[in-house]
Amino acid sequence: IFDEFTIKSLIRPVPGFPKEGVTFRDITPLYQSPRAMRMVADSLIQRYVESPITHIGAIDARGFLLGAVLAYELNKPLILFRKAGKLPADCLREAYSTEYGEAHIEVHRDSLSEGDQVLLLDDLIATGGTFLAAARLVTQLGAEVYEAAAIIDLPDLGGSRLIQDAGIATFTLCAFE
Ligand code: IMP
Repeated sequence: IFDEFTIKSLIRPVPGFPKEGVTFRDITPLYQSPRAMRMVADSLIQRYVESPITHIGAIDARGFLLGAVLAYELNKPLILFRKAGKLPADCLREAYSTEYGEAHIEVHRDSLSEGDQVLLLDDLIATGGTFLAAARLVTQLGAEVYEAAAIIDLPDLGGSRLIQDAGIATFTLCAFE
């Protein structure tokens, strides 16, 4: 069974990373715990096993780890949304800004098509810029975002609200105010 207290206790706050005034939520202790990882994976599998999703869209880089587990268990194609310059074939690109600055995200043009229902996955929602950029790529390929899911929400940064305001459902396993 899912135990939010265990999950939250395995997310380490790192003050001042990557810059002063920001407290980074480090999930490596969670990834190091097989029991916690299983809890996270099982919760997400349970939520989506009977959903109409056709694809797992995983976001660079910590979203990839979760994405691979879900794609395997749900037996769905795994689509990589990568930081610019990493994907080798023909790509679509979107710009976005994070708490740390401007960035670009890309997806292969032939990875999704009309009618596809994508579950977007990442480790954390902060300002929501990353998920919204990935969602724009999904839409440009004619597909739809079924839901944007992450382990952690930082609601004070307003990202999950912004994503919902854009008409995209969000799901997170815990939050840090
Ligand atoms: P957003 O685009 O502002 O919502 O930022 C979310 C993206 O930045 C995700 O890909 C996260 O992995 C990363 N990120 C931002 N802040 C943190 C943090 O405190 N811990 C871990 N990842 C973070």
